Amino acid sequence: MPNSVLPVTMRAPHFTGGGVIKLIDKPNPQPGAGQLLLQVKANALCGSERGQFYNGNGAKVTPGHEAVGIVVAAGPQSVMIDPNSAGNSHVSL
Ligand SMILES: [Zn+2]
Repeated sequence: MPNSVLPVTMRAPHFTGGGVIKLIDKPNPQPGAGQLLLQVKANALCGSERGQFYNGNGAKVTPGHEAVGIVVAAGPQSVMIDPNSAGNSHVSL
C-alpha cells in the first residue's frame, strides 16, 4: 500500500477543555513496524476520555480510540489479511 499518496496533514479532534471539541490540522502519522494507518470514518468517546474532555487533552494526544475506518497505509512487517475471508472482517483496536 503506497504511503506516498497520503496527505501531509489530517484533521483531528482536539479537546480544548470545558467539553469543547475542535478540529485541528496535525501532521499525518506514518505507520511504524507492525502498525496500520486508518482513515477514520466514525468515532465515539470512551469513558476513559472523560477527564480529557473536560480538562483538555494537550497538543500531542489525539483522542478517540473507539474508531471505525479504512486502512490507508501499512507499516513494514504488517500482515495484510483478506477482509472477505471468514473470520477476518473485523479488526479490534
Ligand atoms: Zn475505550
